[in-house]
Amino acid sequence: MLSDFVSRFLSAFFPERCVFCGKVNYLENSVCVHCAQNAERIEKPVCPKCGRGVKNCDCRRRERYFSALCAPFYFEGVVRRGVHRFKFRNAVRNAEAFSLMMAECVRENYPDVSFDCVVGVPMIKADIKARGYDQCAILSQGVAKHLGLVYDGTIIEKIYKTKSQHSLKAIMRTGNLTGVFAVTDASRVEGKTLLLCDDVSTSGETLNECSKMLYLAGAKKIYCAVLALAKK
Ligand SMILES: [Zn+2]
Ligand SMILES: [Zn+2]
Repeated sequence: MLSDFVSRFLSAFFPERCVFCGKVNYLENSVCVHCAQNAERIEKPVCPKCGRGVKNCDCRRRERYFSALCAPFYFEGVVRRGVHRFKFRNAVRNAEAFSLMMAECVRENYPDVSFDCVVGVPMIKADIKARGYDQCAILSQGVAKHLGLVYDGTIIEKIYKTKSQHSLKAIMRTGNLTGVFAVTDASRVEGKTLLLCDDVSTSGETLNECSKMLYLAGAKKIYCAVLALAKK
C-alpha cells in the first residue's frame, strides 16, 4: 500500500517520540520501554474521593462537590516530565495518547456511570493566547472522543486570573479560586451527569471549585478525571 509506504517513509524522518520523555521511540507505542516501566501508576484499591491509592490517601474522605476523582498516574518522575512537555513545549500531538489513557481510566473507575457530556477545567482567554493552545480542552475533547461522548467547551469559563495553585501554600489554595469560574448557561447543565477533566490535580481544589459552580447551576452529578495526581 502506498499509504503504508508513505507512513514508513515519514516515520523514518519524523519518528514517533515517547509521550513522557520525548526520546525517539521505534516501538509502535506512544510510551518507550523505560517510561512504561517507570511511570508511576495509581495503585489499587483507589480512594474514590481523592483518586489516590488508599496507601497514599490522606483526604479522610473529605466531602467534595464532585462524586469521585480518578487518574491513571501520579505526578512524579517521567509522568511529570511528560506533562511539562505537553504544557510548555507544544507537544499537542501527545494529547491523543494521554486522552486515551484517561478514557481507559474513566471506563475502569466509573463503569456504571452514563455521562451526558465532558467538560474541561477552563483557562482564561489571555493564557490560551499566550500558550497558543488550551491543553486541558484538547485533552477533554480527546477523552470525549474515546468514550463516544459529547464535549462541551463553553459550559464553564474562567473569569479572572489567579496565581497557579501549584505556587501557593496549602492553606492559601482553598480561597484562591472562589468566584473564579462561572457557568455560562445553566440550562445546559441542569440535571446532567458530567465528566470534568484536567491535566493535573494537586490538591483537588480547582476541580472542586469548578464542580461547585456546575453543581450550583443544577448539575446532577460531577465525576472528575485527570492525567496525573500529585502524590501528597
Ligand atoms: Zn519515554
Ligand atoms: Zn482519599
